[in-house]
Amino acid sequence: MARYKEAKCRLCRRENVKLFLKGERCYTDKCAMERRPYPPGQHGQARAKISEYGLQLREKQKMRRIYNVLEKQFRGYYHEATRKKGITGEQLIQLLERRLDNVVYRMGFANNRDEARQFIRHGHFKLNGKKVNIPSLSVRANDAIAVIDSSKSNTHIMSAVANVEKRGVPGWLELDPAKMTGKVAALPSREDVTMPMQEQLVVELYSK
Ligand code: SF4
Repeated sequence: MARYKEAKCRLCRRENVKLFLKGERCYTDKCAMERRPYPPGQHGQARAKISEYGLQLREKQKMRRIYNVLEKQFRGYYHEATRKKGITGEQLIQLLERRLDNVVYRMGFANNRDEARQFIRHGHFKLNGKKVNIPSLSVRANDAIAVIDSSKSNTHIMSAVANVEKRGVPGWLELDPAKMTGKVAALPSREDVTMPMQEQLVVELYSK
């Protein structure tokens, strides 16, 4: 499956916000957004006027990069959100939050979404007792997620769980670090998502 493999910190600098794509380093002063908080490239420090379309485009790219999904898949989520009852932008965020790779990351089993995706692909997790390897699976309320027995001693997963206090587990998820299990207590609401996102701009962009 295609995925972005270039320098991750460039993405944060481009979007002018910390996207927390690396894990541990994002919480230190080595973070590129602490050192060079301006867009990458030769003209990064030049003042650029941004159009309405530009603002919408940047917001869409930011959201796509936060959740690490490609354009085609992201557009698919948007269309699914438009078919749901409620505010389209909020439905879009909920669909993205419900992705299994996001849930594994948010529960604290991985340091970032990219790592969570790789862990799932490598078969380290069970969903409701069944081994899974599809990062885009959408979780439901009361779903149970667990590290498979043979992976409970995996040093990468163990160190991610040990670091979970730094970023905390959101209220809609529960984590039992001793048992390496977690539960989806409820579906996420807009207030549960604290990353700065203006989903309305994305809806405006796609509804043109
Ligand atoms: Fe973004 Fe993390 Fe790199 Fe900082 S260290 S720029 S938050 S990916």
